[in-house]
Amino acid sequence: MTSPQDASGAAADATPEASALADAASFAGVPDEFQRLWTPHRMAYIRAGADAMRADCPFCAAPGKDDADGLIVHRGRTAYVLLNLFPYNSGHLLVCPYRHIATYDQATDEEVAEIGELTQTAMRVLRHVSRCEGFNIGMNQGSVAGAGVDEHLHQHVVPRWGSDANFFPIIAKTKALPQLLGEVREAVAHAWPAD
Ligand SMILES: [Zn+2]
Repeated sequence: MTSPQDASGAAADATPEASALADAASFAGVPDEFQRLWTPHRMAYIRAGADAMRADCPFCAAPGKDDADGLIVHRGRTAYVLLNLFPYNSGHLLVCPYRHIATYDQATDEEVAEIGELTQTAMRVLRHVSRCEGFNIGMNQGSVAGAGVDEHLHQHVVPRWGSDANFFPIIAKTKALPQLLGEVREAVAHAWPAD
């Protein structure tokens, strides 16, 4: 990080910002080895938080659409299964209760049982359709824990293959996804067993 003083000398000192700078030696604090990247613009997201999502919850909206538009592969009694619009891998499924509840402990016994059943079926279907060799399964509870939609419970079912991890996510924040969502939805929905 550069300060106005060392960036361009006298020219920077002439700006109003430069005149407001104070000597940090008089501030309280404990120096350490970390550099700080100050991002005050991100407060807009933190302040907007859950209230911004509640008005338009994607997991409340999806069941109101037809299966293709909602990326839904199966509708159960208390919960349903859809494709993640932002997949980690081809075939990344989400198991959601229809009710707008935030955390797992708010789910009823019936919802817990059906989320479990649908997760098991999702594994069998993905194994059959995509020949995956493993899974990541889990729920992020709360935005601090990584939940993208923290207001509406959803269980991730991510199929894994031996060679699926590559360097793209690390160097370019880019996922290589070889199959389009519509094709994946059709294949998974077609393979889902009838009730
Ligand atoms: Zn919802």
